[in-house]
Amino acid sequence: MQDRFGRTISYLRVSVTDRCNLRCRYCMPEGGVALLSHDDILSLEEIYDVVCAAVDKGVTKVRLTGGEPLVRRGIVDLVKMIAGIDGIRDFGLTTNGILLEDYAAALAAVGLDRINVSIDTLNPLRFKNMTRGGDIDKVFAGIDAAEKAGLLPIKLNCVVGEFSNKEDAASVKAFGAERGFEVRTIRMMDFKSGSFSVVEGGSGGDCQNCNRLRLSSDGEIRPCLFSDKSFGVRELGAEKAIEEAVLLKPESGGPCKHNWMHGIGG
Ligand code: SAM
Ligand code: SF4
Repeated sequence: MQDRFGRTISYLRVSVTDRCNLRCRYCMPEGGVALLSHDDILSLEEIYDVVCAAVDKGVTKVRLTGGEPLVRRGIVDLVKMIAGIDGIRDFGLTTNGILLEDYAAALAAVGLDRINVSIDTLNPLRFKNMTRGGDIDKVFAGIDAAEKAGLLPIKLNCVVGEFSNKEDAASVKAFGAERGFEVRTIRMMDFKSGSFSVVEGGSGGDCQNCNRLRLSSDGEIRPCLFSDKSFGVRELGAEKAIEEAVLLKPESGGPCKHNWMHGIGG
């Protein structure tokens, strides 16, 4: 699929839930968020249908995200369904790692290619504070399990911002170097001001070369993380929603009304 600005759209990021087992300071408000009702969340079959439609139209790369994708009931079934779609060359999942030890082997067995794990510091107390309660040992155990299961290459996402210090990102980079994992540092984004920047070591934030569409857990195709434009797959049907989103994908992102990543899928 080509958009108006000559960009080839080949990457779909799918938020499978708005729920999460952590409350990272830059992602979720402390008291949590008004959660979507069960009926508003796409079923596994509906998600599968949208991914099929996107792959039919030329998407070759799919990533599951959230919220925390591993808290979605049936996630292994969904991975299996999507892994069976012909035409996907790169199938990954982004997780906070807390439940990864329990799921890594099963995810690899049903066809997931690889894993990105979000970790902003190696310091257990600071990790607990940044995530409002997370246990970093679970993340380490999850990373070990993913490596053992062959979910490779493992990449680490490290958000840097006012909540973190130099040692936090440096420690994650050192850990990545020691274990052979690529580390992508991401500047904390602020949606209301439209402030975002290029991801160091990754491909996000580079509007000219953006190849992405997003599917939110409530079934909206979003052409840009930094835009409020969205197209409902239940109202329009998956094909039409995808076509409209590609047609109206903005040239670059800007300020928007939503202010949290968890519902859209970072
Ligand atoms: N729960 C999973 C996780 O944390 O990896 C997947 C969803 S999370 C929304 C996806 C990515 O977005 C994570 O790497 C997270 O650090 C990042 N993220 C969340 N809020 C952000 C913000 N305000 N600025 C930059 N990155 C953010
Ligand atoms: Fe949850 Fe991921 Fe957001 Fe942290 S960044 S609150 S783990 S969705």
